[in-house]
Amino acid sequence: MISKDNDPKKISIVVPMYNEEDNISELYDRLNTVMKKLSHLQYEYIFVNDGSFDHTYENLVSIADKDENIIVVNFTRNFGHEAATTAGIINSNGDAVIIIDADLQDPPELIMDMIKKWEEGYEIIYAKRKSRKGETFLKKITSKLFYRVFNMLTDTKMPKDTGDFRLIDRKVANDFKKLKEKNRITRALINWIGYNQTHIFFDRDKRFSGKTKYNYFKLIRLAIDSITSFSTKPLTFIVFTGLLLSLLSFATGIIFILIKLFTSIPINGWTSTVVLVLFLNGFQIFLLGIVGQYIARISVEVKERPLYLIRNIYSTKNNSLQK
Ligand code: UDP
Ligand code: MG
Repeated sequence: MISKDNDPKKISIVVPMYNEEDNISELYDRLNTVMKKLSHLQYEYIFVNDGSFDHTYENLVSIADKDENIIVVNFTRNFGHEAATTAGIINSNGDAVIIIDADLQDPPELIMDMIKKWEEGYEIIYAKRKSRKGETFLKKITSKLFYRVFNMLTDTKMPKDTGDFRLIDRKVANDFKKLKEKNRITRALINWIGYNQTHIFFDRDKRFSGKTKYNYFKLIRLAIDSITSFSTKPLTFIVFTGLLLSLLSFATGIIFILIKLFTSIPINGWTSTVVLVLFLNGFQIFLLGIVGQYIARISVEVKERPLYLIRNIYSTKNNSLQK
């Protein structure tokens, strides 16, 4: 849009990193191999160090010292994967932005296919997982289930079996910057933005080194975050459940009154009463919990704290060393 046709276009590669010291050199090598093949394009790497406590930052600085295409965004602490990805996109200025994980589960070689599609005119190209290596059966099943529930509950359709690995055009990145919410799920937000989308398939590799940063507790939080920030249907569900239960108990009451009035059958059942009371109490707490989830998120939003804080940005570009 801004660059003239004869100017080389620039690609920004955004990588969020949390304790990925052993993946950096392999990732950097493979990215370089890909970018060398795309010699008609300029590029920049935006590595976001999300408060790692290993040597991620030191390793990034040592490659940035030798390569002015590298920009290291260094957080003051760990703000989480979503914040790190967002910071990467905000600090990028390429004509296209590619988001990729640091652990090489997303093969960098796929970038070439993404760029091809981008040059054909697509504005969002996401990578869809054909298979996932090195992940447990339970993780695959729960992840599949999540996409189906999410798509059922929300109007924003999230493509199944995708992660954050995708290319977005500058136009999409600019619109992405306008989204100020704190509970954010990058992949769903990008989908919500719209534009011309397509996908490519890939086999997801296992991690090159290190362990996943997502345990089941974090994954459940991610699922609740995704659903609450894109749908209020769970709240509608509460209203209807309440209504249904009231109707049921009203009808049961009437039946008991009729039995008492017109028959001599004794009405007993202490056990069933206790079971019912316990069940309904538990159910009420569950429903209240859903309301609580929304209130908790409202409270986070109204505080308007920044999504992340940057300690420094390190780059040797234009000899302006910012430490
Ligand atoms: N990540 C991050 N901050 C975090 C957790 C993860 O920047 O708090 C990064 C991590 O370094 C990796 C990407 O997000 O580059 C995906 O994380 P991970 O591989 O642990 O997730 P999984 O692939 O298991 O879903
Ligand atoms: Mg991973």
